[in-house]
Amino acid sequence: MKQYKIAVAGTGYVGLVAGVCFAEKGHQVICVDVDERKVETMKQGICPIYEQDLEELMQKNYKEGRLDYTTDYKNAYKDADAIFIGVGTPEQPDGSANLSYIATVSRQIAESIEKDCLVVVKSTVPIGTNDKVEQFIKDFLVNDVKVEVASNPEFLAQGTAVKDTLQAKRIIIGTESKEAEKKLMEIYEPFKLPIVSVNRRSAEMIKYASNDFLALKISYMNDIANLCELVGANIQDVAKGMSYDPRIGANFLNAGIGYGGSCFPKDTKALKYLAKQHGYKLKTVEAAVDVNAEQKVKLFKKASERMITFNGVKIAILGLTFKPGTDDLREAPSIDNVELLLKNNANNIYAYDPVGEDNFKKRYPTEINYVSTPEEALKDANICFIFTEWNEIKAIKPEMYKKLMKTPLVYDGRNIYDVKEMKDEGIEYYSIGR
Ligand code: NAD
Repeated sequence: MKQYKIAVAGTGYVGLVAGVCFAEKGHQVICVDVDERKVETMKQGICPIYEQDLEELMQKNYKEGRLDYTTDYKNAYKDADAIFIGVGTPEQPDGSANLSYIATVSRQIAESIEKDCLVVVKSTVPIGTNDKVEQFIKDFLVNDVKVEVASNPEFLAQGTAVKDTLQAKRIIIGTESKEAEKKLMEIYEPFKLPIVSVNRRSAEMIKYASNDFLALKISYMNDIANLCELVGANIQDVAKGMSYDPRIGANFLNAGIGYGGSCFPKDTKALKYLAKQHGYKLKTVEAAVDVNAEQKVKLFKKASERMITFNGVKIAILGLTFKPGTDDLREAPSIDNVELLLKNNANNIYAYDPVGEDNFKKRYPTEINYVSTPEEALKDANICFIFTEWNEIKAIKPEMYKKLMKTPLVYDGRNIYDVKEMKDEGIEYYSIGR
């Protein structure tokens, strides 16, 4: 195996996991971030995000001398063989992707590199961005070196990021020269994974098309779930029946309170925006976005029809993160619902989440009471909302709601419980599509 000197820009879910996994596969890696506190934390062997197995691999590779962290980008980039960009591309108010972090890194790279280098964009970027990044770096190059840009979109899912990287279903590389293709192939050679090599624009599109397809699948099931409620069918049985068809597949068939997280919401809107820029209406993706927006607040709406007020009512919230296995709260349905509850005069909210509490506290430091067990949240509560299907929440037995709550009224956004079992326990239970 050929060992490469790799720098990674950005140590979020994508950059840090990529850096750690490249080191684990034998490359020499330096991870760069602008956040000094984060870099200090990582140097101490502490993982700044909640992600299974990541901290152990960070410590191992740091100790073995293949992995380091810095804010000093100049030193990190100057003699790197390849620089992977993993900074954020958040959504802007109009739905387009904010490329300012990509631009800053590109400028820093242009001003720092002292030898020929392959710049690899891992962040999710609109089609054509790689071309612009290459031109921008060339325009601002300080030294007489050769630089080329390649696309290498990331497909990891938060919560299983390390596994998804080390055992990825496929690696997509988008290049415009044989040289860049060969280098990227060699970097990924020790992973022993299927590699799909295409041009840069196709690689960029593969990422959006994949994410938006999954978002569409979720919204489709939520749409069908809403119809199930109206016609007396059960979405879980429907999904089970569909799942046996290999053309449909068993994954992503769970109806619920909509997708959240840092990717699906912004990547659907970004593709919709991109299509509009080209005079095209991307109707399927637009539908996914619309269904999701309504789905996220469906349970709140149901609860407001049932309650005369939320003021003075003890509300238990179980689960805050957008899904289990992560501490990420970006676009989590819990936020939309808490926002609505507060606007509607709720003043007695008790929330439980096994890992999301600290991040939620940054948004709502005083408006909510945070508790360390589901039982504390449920004690004497009048209403319970379930927003995330953490194992700790799935483990709560139906009789506990009856026993602990003042009035057992449960709105379950993740279809954790059997409808009949809850009814038999004497719980007023509302879920999705059943
Ligand atoms: P993140 O927000 O968690 O992390 C971005 C990091 O970049 C931050 O630590 C920030 O401090 C750092 N940063 C900003 N400017 C920098 C600079 N100039 N130099 C060095 N570091 C800098 O982002 P993320 O969730 O890891 O996502 C990164 C990209 O990957 C996005 O485009 C996203 O769409 C894509 N992606 C994310 C996921 C996911 O599950 N989170 C999966 C696939 C793809």
